[in-house]
Amino acid sequence: MTDTSLLNAADLHKTFKVSSHNHSARTLTAVDGVSLHLSAGETLGIAGESGCGKSTLAKIMAGLLAPDSGSMLYKGTPLSQLGKDAGTVFRRKTQMIFQDPFSSLNPRMRIGDSISEPLKIAGVAPTLQRAELSRLMEAVGLPEDAANRFPDEFSGGQRQRIGIARALASSPEILIADEPVSSLDISIQAQIINILLQMKQDFALSMMIVSHNLLVLRHICDRTIIMYLGTIVECGPASELFRRCRHPYTEALIAAIPGLGHTAAKGELLHDDLPSALSIPPGCRFHPRCRYAIDRCRHEVPLLKEYAPGHSAACHLSNTLYS
Ligand code: SF4
Repeated sequence: MTDTSLLNAADLHKTFKVSSHNHSARTLTAVDGVSLHLSAGETLGIAGESGCGKSTLAKIMAGLLAPDSGSMLYKGTPLSQLGKDAGTVFRRKTQMIFQDPFSSLNPRMRIGDSISEPLKIAGVAPTLQRAELSRLMEAVGLPEDAANRFPDEFSGGQRQRIGIARALASSPEILIADEPVSSLDISIQAQIINILLQMKQDFALSMMIVSHNLLVLRHICDRTIIMYLGTIVECGPASELFRRCRHPYTEALIAAIPGLGHTAAKGELLHDDLPSALSIPPGCRFHPRCRYAIDRCRHEVPLLKEYAPGHSAACHLSNTLYS
């Protein structure tokens, strides 16, 4: 079978040193043995609670953060071996959109200049830059006179449109969006999601969307990955994963969303809060919160196993609970 993966990550690990109140250094495990791929043309969702490592993973996939270990391949070539020219192509072709687009915009730069900056860097002629700027602004629904204004003159939704237009100016083939709508009002969220879907089609993009909002991911993703404390606990086609999940953590997340047809509050199926990534529980790291946990779960790490084509889960009891 031909490998159509644009990005392929194997056994990624990433930790951070943090100092505690008594100034001793402790290790925070953000990503712990994660393998995944992004295929050409697909939309991949990454879900999980805050602190599960999904944003760190997104930055590694975008090449903005180096993993401690593990491999990252772009079209089959390790990032570390891309060389200068191919490395430049990778950075241009892989663009990231952040939760707070304001932080990635220069507050003293007019947004027309911000959006066209990648064009300028790429050496595009000024007349073509202006034409492309108009095209991009129209594509994301920004009025033409917005080009002369500054970032602080825009609402959150408009700033996200600016962020998307700026990312598209690099002619990317991969768009990685980290919580692109979580700080926006519900009505604006739908507009931004629709723009992303339209841009995916118009610009032939592959997308990775990080979100704690499962409704958003169910709506737009081909595949979804569920992360818990730095690891993947479930991964599968979105249509199947939301209809027939195979992991108690996914079950609890889905059950907390009335819009998915379930009514349980999150606390009913999830005991306690997410443990600290400074102190990962032994065995199945979900066991302190799992209502199905048995003794084996407390000392034996469950492996990610495939239960249906492309649908994997890491739970000792997956077959028993979800047969
Ligand atoms: Fe729950 Fe055990 Fe499965 Fe972990 S391995 S999710 S603790 S049943």
